[in-house]
Parts: sequence; structure tokens; C-alpha cells
Amino acid sequence: MLRELKGGLAKIPEHRTGKNCVYALEDAGLAAFSVFFMQSPSFLAHQRDMQRRKGHNNAEGLFGVERIPSDGQIRNLLDPVDPARLSEVFWAIYAGLKEEGYLEAFQGVENTQLISLDGTQYFASQKVQCDNCRVTVREEKTYYSHQVLLAVMCDPQQRQVVCLEPEFITPQDGHDKQDCEQQAIKRWVKRNARHFAPWKVTVLADDLQAHQPICELLRAHRMHFILTCKVESHPTLYEELELLTGVAGAVSSRCVRQWNGRFHEEWIYQWAEHLPLRGDPKTLHVNWCALTVVRADTGAQLYHNAWITDYALNETSVVTVARDGRSRWKVENEGINVLKNHGYHFEHNYGHGQQHLSTLLLTLLLLAFLFHTALALSCTRYQAVREELATRRTFFNDLRALTRYLYFPSWQQLLNFMYQQLEIAS
Ligand SMILES: [Zn+2]
Repeated sequence: MLRELKGGLAKIPEHRTGKNCVYALEDAGLAAFSVFFMQSPSFLAHQRDMQRRKGHNNAEGLFGVERIPSDGQIRNLLDPVDPARLSEVFWAIYAGLKEEGYLEAFQGVENTQLISLDGTQYFASQKVQCDNCRVTVREEKTYYSHQVLLAVMCDPQQRQVVCLEPEFITPQDGHDKQDCEQQAIKRWVKRNARHFAPWKVTVLADDLQAHQPICELLRAHRMHFILTCKVESHPTLYEELELLTGVAGAVSSRCVRQWNGRFHEEWIYQWAEHLPLRGDPKTLHVNWCALTVVRADTGAQLYHNAWITDYALNETSVVTVARDGRSRWKVENEGINVLKNHGYHFEHNYGHGQQHLSTLLLTLLLLAFLFHTALALSCTRYQAVREELATRRTFFNDLRALTRYLYFPSWQQLLNFMYQQLEIAS
């Protein structure tokens, strides 16, 4: 995987002129990546110390950084680099995982892969800004921010999510959240549909995207969809549904009783087909379903959500479609939440840059997230060590401490060291 990253960085054209190119762009990219991968803001400082004391260091041993640039040099080298230059690295790793069969467990409705697309803000400031910041004015105050559309492959039964190439939302995409995210989804789908076999993907997205242009775009690129559909934003569809409720057999329902270990739950599925998405003659017709979970003894509602989909709905398929629609929360729990709150140090002090630094660093961070998932899916030694150390925090604490004091010429040797010292085999 590091070879792919290094190869991707090596293809970026040199933007500096003159002979003053002491540090390579590859070193700057790999060094920034190492901070995210190790989840350690001080990793490079410790490795510079080790280099002075011992004549070698782990940035070189583990990440192939030939000479560690200073934080300022990393910032200057990476700022002009368009993050789209690294998109191939995501797809190379995706292809590798797929070829080796590690994605077979990721299977949703009708054996499709579930891909969740979701916009999130990853930077906001009233002072710091760059050319690519989105500028908004509220109550005479100016705010600078960056948003990204995250694309992840998920599965209702899997703990991991596989991060795919992101799409950055640009200031040109529009003013409101809906416009911005729709433009970003359009670009992502048009560029990336070729990576998937026809009709082998089901796109999950939220209510903001559950509109005709996105549904048509996905169908045109031979992708299925399950999109959250709220009452407030879909008046025509829900009016029609209301009318149909009075017609015998037009809206179907099914109730499944389940014991959750403490009390009985009633899972009530409702569905109807061929509903208009909007109120004009050119409307697309879609299928609709909802899931409501109530506590059987008290009647208290525990969960409710509704979706539109292009899948045919019946007593069996409605259960799968609702399950997959529900799994979108994973993206928020396993994806966005992990990135924001579990040690990736996105706010590391490289600064914001003038051009692309902020988006390039987020791209490297997402690659680190993808590498961690890929290791957890494919590397038995990594799995064994992670399992033994139980929590994510302990694993990364140990990694930070070990690499501060000891030199490891390769990942193999570092993981073997942990494996042996923890006496996992015995
Ligand atoms: Zn900016």
C-alpha cells in the first residue's frame, strides 16, 4: 500500500524551479501521511531526534521517508498539490482488496456493494482561510469553511467501513448544502461509476439527495439507490401515500416481533410502489418503504425511518432494503466519528495553506483511515495484535511509544516484535 502511495506521489509534477530542491515531494507526502497513520502529532519530531542520536529513524524504516522535511517545508511542498492527483491510490487499494476477496463480506441487497455518500464539514474558521475556502457571512461575520463528500463502502454486518476516494465540495458548487452536495455527488458518480460492474452498487444517501436529478443520474450510471425520504421534503410523495392508505392493498405492511434480550420489539415494515417523486408530469416514480420499531409492552417508538428506492418491494425484500438503508448510520459512527474523534489529528499544525494544503492533508488522512481498514481486513498479524490490545487507543499508544525508543527497519519487524512480546502465539 505504501508503494502505491509513493508511486502516486512520484507522479506529481515538480512545481518548484531552480536547484533548491533539497527535499523531495514524496518525502513531504509520506511524512505528512505518517503523522495520520501513527495518530501521533509528534511522530516526526521524535524521528528527527532519533536520527540525530542513532543515525536512522522510523519515518525512513516504516514509511520510506528518505529525509524528513520540517513541518514548514512539508507545508510549502504540499500546498500546490491538487489532491485529485492521489485518487488512483484509493482505487489501487480498493482493487487489491477486491481481487484478494476481502470485500466479499461486504454485501447488501441483491448482492450489491453498499456505498454511502455523505457530506461533512471538516474545517471552519473566522480567521484562517485559503483560495479554496467556502465563504459565508452570517450576522455580519465572515466564516471560512471546507466540506467534503465522503464515500465509504459499508455493510450492516461489518464493523469496518472501506473509505473510497472523496469528493471535495468547492466554493463554485453553490450556496446551500443541498446544491453543494448534489454537485459533488454528480462529479463523484460520473468519474467513478467505471470502477464498478453495472447494477452491482447500491448508493445510500440522506434526505437532501433523495431527489429526481440524483435518482436519474444513478440509474443512468447503472447504480441502484436507497435514499432517506422525509415527510417535510417530499410533499407530493407523501400526499399520494396518504391517498393510497385508503385503498385496500395499496400500502402493504408486515410486523416482525423480536426479543432484544430485555423486552420484545415490534418491527413494523410498510411499503408501496410507483409513487411520484414530484408534482409535475415529468416526475420519476419510485418505491417507498418505512421501518418503525416500537417496544411491545409500552408502545414507545424506538426507531423510525423511511426511504425511497428503485428496488421492487415485497415481504422479503423490504426487510433487506430497510436494513441496508439503516446501515447508513454506520458511516456517521464508523466513518465520520472515527475521523473526527479517534486520534487522526486532522487539526495538526501544518496550517491551512494558501491553495490545496487543507484538502491534500484530508486526502492523506483518509488514506491512513483506508490503510488501517485494509490491514484489519487482510493482515492476520495486525489483526492478532489489535485484538490482543483490545482498544484502538492502546494499540496506537503502544505504537507511538515503541517507535519513539526503538528503531524498526520494516512494518513486518515491528508487528512481529509486538506479536512475540505479547506472547500471542502461546
Ligand atoms: Zn481554505
